[in-house]
Amino acid sequence: MVKFVSVRGTRDIFLHEVKKLRYIERCCREVVSKYNFQEIILPTFEDKQLYQRSIGETTDIVEKQMYEIVDTKGRKFVLRPEGTAGVVRAYIEHNLKNIFPLKRFFYFGPMYRYERPQKGRYREFYQFGIEIFNEPSPSSDILLIKIILEVFNKVGINGVLYINSVGCDRCRPQYTTELVKYLNSIKQSLCNDCKIRLQRNPLRILDCKIDTDKIVNIPQITNYLCEQCKTNYEEIKQLLNKQNIEYKEDKFLVRGLDYYTNFVFEYKVHSLSSTQNTICAGGRYDTLIKTFGAEDTLACGCAFGIDRMMELVTIPKGSKTDIIKIGIGTVSDEYVSKGFEIADMLTQNNSKYIVIGPLCKKSLKSQLRLFNNEQCKYVVIIGEEITQNKVVLKDFSNNRQEVVEINFLVEKINKIE
Ligand code: ATP
Ligand code: MG
Repeated sequence: MVKFVSVRGTRDIFLHEVKKLRYIERCCREVVSKYNFQEIILPTFEDKQLYQRSIGETTDIVEKQMYEIVDTKGRKFVLRPEGTAGVVRAYIEHNLKNIFPLKRFFYFGPMYRYERPQKGRYREFYQFGIEIFNEPSPSSDILLIKIILEVFNKVGINGVLYINSVGCDRCRPQYTTELVKYLNSIKQSLCNDCKIRLQRNPLRILDCKIDTDKIVNIPQITNYLCEQCKTNYEEIKQLLNKQNIEYKEDKFLVRGLDYYTNFVFEYKVHSLSSTQNTICAGGRYDTLIKTFGAEDTLACGCAFGIDRMMELVTIPKGSKTDIIKIGIGTVSDEYVSKGFEIADMLTQNNSKYIVIGPLCKKSLKSQLRLFNNEQCKYVVIIGEEITQNKVVLKDFSNNRQEVVEINFLVEKINKIE
């Protein structure tokens, strides 16, 4: 027999881990819904070209990390490596600008990248992402940052916000020219990937996880920003200061996707290993929507790396303690139908009860063992008393039991609580 195991870079999430993932997702949802963000569920695969044209042909994601699917008709699709391209595609395709007065969206789900699997880096991983369209800088940038800080505060994560400006189409070319000049002078010391990046996409060298120590004397983009970009970046910093939001400037922060313009940021937690310590990242991409043929539309967004957050979060004790598990036991299988009725009665009137049972073809003793192992607080035992509309209510915490009339069952449980 072949023994199947999960594919490298993917993992099964269960027990405590699944609770943690859902807890983090819930916290993210709670924060963004306060600011009127609307959910979009996106397809998990899209046209290959969508990603090539948005993320950029010469980025690591497009060059090396995409999972391609070729269907029987030879069409090429890609398992989504990120969410922004899909949101932009949906926004244009369905003319969402006419449907939503505020164009604020969020998505949650798995993303796929062919990377070397390690702690905090998977081939299938989860992102919670938010996008704001048609809102100018700096208010929308500050909103993004405030949301990020609110989420991390809520889940108890403490990190550092790094910011930078990557300029615009007017000022970046001059910077790139200076950068290439400098990098050519230290070409020998660059890693093999960066030697190729130097020809194809020099800005990406700043994002290299290997060559970080070699970029100390590199020209800094903030010295090349045009007046407009400089003013904008200053405005953002001033607003952050006014809001007492702490940040550090990282003049080499460029992000791994080509569509970013102006303001970019990453939130890092230094207790994680240095190449996997960014747990949220994003920025502005004011030109992307237009490149897809739609009208000029301002845009910014970011994505939370849920898998990395899971390594840092502990679910607070006490959350959901109001849930009470109740076992529905039967003395014999003839009472199973009645058992379902009582289970309905308990769950339909009260959302704090979880019921287990009735279970047929099991002795009462083994039913009780299971309820105990499942940490049920009470067991309702249905036996011959049912002819007088009564059941036995057993309290597992003190092993006391008493005969209770069905009509008073909920009331009785509530009273003991
Ligand atoms: P990194 O520099 O760590 O490769 P990135 O710049 O490629 O990240 P983004 O595309 O900005 O990442 O994605 C946003 C967030 O999603 C990252 O900050 C990270 O937390 C998470 N993330 C990205 N790739 C992975 C992965 N392969 N496994 C787990 N989480 C990931
Ligand atoms: Mg990456």
